[in-house]
Amino acid sequence: MTKYSHLLAPLDLGFTTLKNRVLMGSMHTGLEETKDWNRVAEFYAERARGGVALMVTGGMAPNREGGVFPGAAGLFTDQDIANHRIVTSRVHEADGKIAMQILHAGRYAYSPECVAPSAIKSPISPFPPKELDEDGIEKQIQDIVTAAVRAKEANYDGVEIMGSEGYFLNQFLVTHTNKREDRWGGSYENRMRLPVEVVKRVREAVGTNFILIYRLSMIDLVPGGSTFDEVITLAKKIEAAGATLINTGIGWHEARIPTIATSVPRRAFTWVTKKLMGHVSIPIITSNRINTPEVGNDVLADGCADMVSMARPFLADPHFVAKAAADRADTIAPCIACNQACLDHTFSGKISSCLVNPKACFETELTVTATVSPKSIAVVGAGPAGLSAALTASDRGHQVTLFDRSDEIGGQLNMAKQVPGKEEFFGLVDWYRTMLADSKVELKLETEVQADDLKDFDEVVIATGVLPRDPQIDGQDGDNVFSYMDILRTKKDVGKHVAIVGAGGIGFDVAEFLVTDDSPTEDLDAWLEEWGVTDPSVERGGLVPEGPKPDAPVRSVTLLQRKSEKLGKRLGKTTGWIHRASLAMKDVKMVGGVNYERIDEDGLHVSYGEGRENPSVIKADAVVLCAGQVPERSLADGLVEIGIAPHVIGGADVAAELDAKRAIDQGTRLAAKL
Ligand code: NAP
Ligand code: SF4
Repeated sequence: MTKYSHLLAPLDLGFTTLKNRVLMGSMHTGLEETKDWNRVAEFYAERARGGVALMVTGGMAPNREGGVFPGAAGLFTDQDIANHRIVTSRVHEADGKIAMQILHAGRYAYSPECVAPSAIKSPISPFPPKELDEDGIEKQIQDIVTAAVRAKEANYDGVEIMGSEGYFLNQFLVTHTNKREDRWGGSYENRMRLPVEVVKRVREAVGTNFILIYRLSMIDLVPGGSTFDEVITLAKKIEAAGATLINTGIGWHEARIPTIATSVPRRAFTWVTKKLMGHVSIPIITSNRINTPEVGNDVLADGCADMVSMARPFLADPHFVAKAAADRADTIAPCIACNQACLDHTFSGKISSCLVNPKACFETELTVTATVSPKSIAVVGAGPAGLSAALTASDRGHQVTLFDRSDEIGGQLNMAKQVPGKEEFFGLVDWYRTMLADSKVELKLETEVQADDLKDFDEVVIATGVLPRDPQIDGQDGDNVFSYMDILRTKKDVGKHVAIVGAGGIGFDVAEFLVTDDSPTEDLDAWLEEWGVTDPSVERGGLVPEGPKPDAPVRSVTLLQRKSEKLGKRLGKTTGWIHRASLAMKDVKMVGGVNYERIDEDGLHVSYGEGRENPSVIKADAVVLCAGQVPERSLADGLVEIGIAPHVIGGADVAAELDAKRAIDQGTRLAAKL
């Protein structure tokens, strides 16, 4: 009997049966745009082999004006259909099922051709949309129907119609974006006419035995969003129009509430989906921040939904379901919800991948094969770079010894996990521990190796990480000055007023750590209150009118940098705003354009600009140095001196802009070639 009996139970859809209750949610990976259909097919086939019941592709545009960006992929020609058949046949060979998402972006389309119910520009797009007339609306319906018919011709098992996240169909539903006075606007009946018509016409066109998922926004998280009565009304109409399944959408893209970032509590919105249970008779899927089989199973056991959708967890580990079914959930590479290699890549026009699994979307390129000439390999440093190099090399059949002077593995991951809102890092370190225990890697902790100790290995990999940069500020040797390591590793007491030198990722993390007592990520009610989220039955869109209500900061913090640009500008593309908003809610003062003059018992003395004007003191009990990092290369240099050429990876290689993504990627790629 499996521990995950709810998650692994089949789901009978009448004309077909899903083998378990897990859906891989839609993700825009950028793969379709590469036009390398073998690569696209392998991405999905690998996940089908891993046991997921049903996958949804990234959004396919139904027409030019509806594409998320100019040139967005879609099934426009017979050649497109033939290309997509490569994907569907590979998935079917692997006993999987796949539905194609049809995504019309409406006013979110990054194009001057974009269209919408009303000519109201979105706050996240530079292009004002064109208001559609009656013929224009009919064209959009026909194009969506045509896309569904073509998906069927391409042998997809179904389609998902994207009706949430503030995209085109969602834009008709709320008065915030729909000011029309014709039969497509005004009353709710009129506003929901388009999504219902689309589902009805798609069903008529594709026939009965074809999965039709409608993704429905259950909590809009924007002013003037839907009430839950409207959600229920729409869901019933969507069912009557012929949907097979209803999937959950949470929040519009323009919402100022985080919905999937790592600081969002796990399963933070499944209570919203639960409110719809019993109102329709077709199965309902829930989503957002579900990333382990335990959580997914609990969500179903609690009656929140009939099925769970996970997207990013399938980048982190394609074999999520198979490992859960084999009772080896501890070996599932965890998605830490960082967005660093997936969504941040998407929004930078890069192919998606995954911080913990660099093979994601690179299945045909980054292959790890058994070695024909096993070597003895020393890896020094058990941070993310060293861990990934050691595990990958060992997987290939090399004899690997992994050294670290610390008494625990994880390196800087152990600091990250101390930051409120970054608790997922605990799971990542646990996973590495499990994988090491399962591997043949010989782990030597509390072992400080010297160059001479490494002479007998065939290859040496140096992953010794970084050292804090010395900012050379007068008075920095005082008792009131600390490094970020003192704070995050040894939790030194720093008093009530703190100045932080340096506002990079670590400065922001230290500020979050210093202003927060109990992490709201660990307490859903506290988190909802902090961000001002409530029941959409009580307030339209689920937003508290008074706005966020954060706990008072534990201490007063001033975060400083020398650059005069906005602080936090270089943080993650999709998560930087959350860090900035979170610290603003805690009254953290952000000061740019400073010169650091000196530190004394009064605090941090600064001046401004090239002329060192306005000298003043930031009164502080303590000053914390987060001034960046430099490579720790002493061992690497020592090896070169005795004639050994080591492979240097991670922060020891390049400290600037080091993050776990680059460290893991570099470690894996090196070991795949050794
Ligand atoms: P960082 O991002 O390079 O920031 C270093 C900070 O120190 C900057 O604000 C810089 O601003 C300041 N600085 C640089 N040289 C200085 C000097 N000589 N004297 C005084 N200040 C100086 O480095 P980090 O904060 O240590 O982070 C390291 C890496 O970890 C980053 O690349 C980041 O990607 C990663 N990380 C990411 C996250 C995340 O949220 N994704 C979180 C933690 C860490 P000025 O030069 O303007 O003063
Ligand atoms: Fe999850 Fe981060 Fe990987 Fe994206 S990059 S799939 S958020 S672990």
